[in-house]
Amino acid sequence: MSEKKSVPEMFATNVFNTEVMKQRLPKNVYKKLMRIIEHGENLDMETAEVVANAMKDWAIERGATHYTHWFQPMTGSTAEKHDSFIEPTPDGMAIMQFSGKALVKGEPDASSFPSGGLRQTSNARGYTAWDPTSWCFVKEGSLYIPTVFVSYTGEILDKKTPLLRSMDALSKVAVRFLKLFGNERVTSVKTTVGAEQEYFIIDKKTYDQRDDLILTGRTLFGAKPPKGQEMDDQYFANLRPRIAAFMADLDEELWKLGIYSKTKHNEVAPAQHEMAPIFTTSNLGTDQNELTMEVMEKVALRHGLVCLLHEKPFEGVNGSGKHNNWSMSTNDGQNLLDPGDTPMENLQFLTILCALIKGVDEYADLMRLSAASAGNDHRLGADEAPPAIISMFLGEELDAVLKAIEEGTVYKTQTRTFEIGVNALPSFPKDSTDRNRTSPFAFTGNRFEFRMVGSSDNIACPNFLLNAIVCEELSWFTEKLEPFAGTEGFEKEVKELLKEVLHKHRRIIFNGDGYSVEWVQEAKRRGLPNYPSTVDCMPHYTDEKNVRILSKFGIFNADEIKARTEIHLEKYSKVRRIEARTMIQMARKQLLPAVLEYTQNLCQGIVIKKQAGSTAITEEKMNERLTDLADAFYDSIQDLEQLVNEACECKDILEQAQYFRSKVLPEMERMRTLSDTIERIMPRSAWPIPDYSEMIYNV
Ligand code: ADP
Ligand code: MG
Repeated sequence: MSEKKSVPEMFATNVFNTEVMKQRLPKNVYKKLMRIIEHGENLDMETAEVVANAMKDWAIERGATHYTHWFQPMTGSTAEKHDSFIEPTPDGMAIMQFSGKALVKGEPDASSFPSGGLRQTSNARGYTAWDPTSWCFVKEGSLYIPTVFVSYTGEILDKKTPLLRSMDALSKVAVRFLKLFGNERVTSVKTTVGAEQEYFIIDKKTYDQRDDLILTGRTLFGAKPPKGQEMDDQYFANLRPRIAAFMADLDEELWKLGIYSKTKHNEVAPAQHEMAPIFTTSNLGTDQNELTMEVMEKVALRHGLVCLLHEKPFEGVNGSGKHNNWSMSTNDGQNLLDPGDTPMENLQFLTILCALIKGVDEYADLMRLSAASAGNDHRLGADEAPPAIISMFLGEELDAVLKAIEEGTVYKTQTRTFEIGVNALPSFPKDSTDRNRTSPFAFTGNRFEFRMVGSSDNIACPNFLLNAIVCEELSWFTEKLEPFAGTEGFEKEVKELLKEVLHKHRRIIFNGDGYSVEWVQEAKRRGLPNYPSTVDCMPHYTDEKNVRILSKFGIFNADEIKARTEIHLEKYSKVRRIEARTMIQMARKQLLPAVLEYTQNLCQGIVIKKQAGSTAITEEKMNERLTDLADAFYDSIQDLEQLVNEACECKDILEQAQYFRSKVLPEMERMRTLSDTIERIMPRSAWPIPDYSEMIYNV
């Protein structure tokens, strides 16, 4: 048996990262590639040839026979098409070859990917282009090349391109902004992300018996078990053996792919777990999160388990999200959300903080829609996840500092005094600053944690929209303050500006309980938007102010935003349609026949008992009750079918989504309630699908 490798030995063994590049590439090519990666220099064909060849040799040593351009279209999953390295020789043999051209550009057939009408207007084919800022890796016999996906006329067809553009724009804006505060050395700023991934694990045997899980990722029927999560005995509980074995395997696979899987634990709901990686740049972090989700699903299957990434697989217990921890770091190693130790650093930090406050208030709709999907609609605002209303949590102490700034007073406690530009800020304890888990956007000491993102979402969208907002606000501050940079009056100007901003935008700060009913009313009083569903918030993507900032920073043009809005709304309708039809099918093929058979048995029992001269009161009562419920259930199936057909007839994309949301979804809920009531009355042996207890308590 071979010795098991240590973690540092196995770490990133399947990744063509900087270390491998340094070893494998000629010095001049390595240096050139680094300039391309760090400063966005153009890639020439000569460099590409050399890199491709080195990559191929390295990949073949790791068992690869194929390569694939790996991209993130608007479908929501990643896409790949594999070509082998094989080239024929004149004597009928084969050699392994990989050209620079094949590394740099691919031409997948784009016609089957959603483009939201963009391709009709431009009639363009799509192509993929290597993104050298993310790392290539080997997996399952193929060399994976991270790429962007665009049309020949330049329209964006994927999720990565806007992210890269937003990072570029933010870097430029932030470098200029930092100069105001004497930060002359900084030449680039990168946004960072650490995505905590929640997921459910259930046994494959139970999964295979549930068409709803197979077809839609969530249970569409299922009575709540007698025990939910009310005992709080699952969170951080010790890991059951099968889960522990799965997690150990998962860690190993992620480490080999260069993903710093760091923390693992049981989550709040039974069968729910979490994996948190160490943060990295938003670009790499997005790719790695996509990879993480894929690896989770595959590793689970090896253990006879299924990983559910849906936001709400089970009603009545917590859903799954993805906490998107976000910050900005400079090329000289400063975390821009770290308050710092000196008055000048503090001034810079507070200005950035106020830029975020202003931005989140002005663009709350963009933040909200960045996390909107049919699946996440079951979570947001549903009592356990952050509410659908956007607000910011800063913690009491930081909030008090801001109040002092707004009121022009000095912040004083028994132990410390703070005046902008004069004293250093009190140091805010990291992590423990925030145990307010109800806030959608919380400051946690040296980063912001955006908690609305759904567990199955690609994190590119929340990150590029947040980046776009920050670009807008940092440039706003820069324009206001640049005339005073380096002058004696600078600090005073900053203070005045912060005061003004805080006065206007403090309504977005909320430190209380985001789950409470009072907050909904309070938010309304404050004039904060509340969009309970995808259908309500998505149309705001194309609001003038949003189009303005997204196009100003070169992230999207107006057509691309319109296309994206349509893709999201269409997807919403498709998800609901599939769910409704799955319900109808399960109801007709499994659930209703089970009730009918059972009531028939009851009736036979009644006849037999009466012939024997005894009463059959219980059987009669049960039969009556179940027959009534079955009748209502039958009607509900007919109604739902009718409503789905009507929804499908809506020609307008928004109108259709609205129809699904306001007419179809409530009928689905009604039907479920009926079924769940029937399930509670029927004996387990007569119910045709695994129940909640079997699914969430049996691993
Ligand atoms: P909690 O469960 O309290 O939210 P975790 O430690 O599980 O905290 O997760 C915190 C996440 O935040 C980790 O993924 C971590 O790498 C990430 N993080 C820490 N600092 C930064 C930063 N500067 N930028 C982005 N993410 C960060
Ligand atoms: Mg967290």
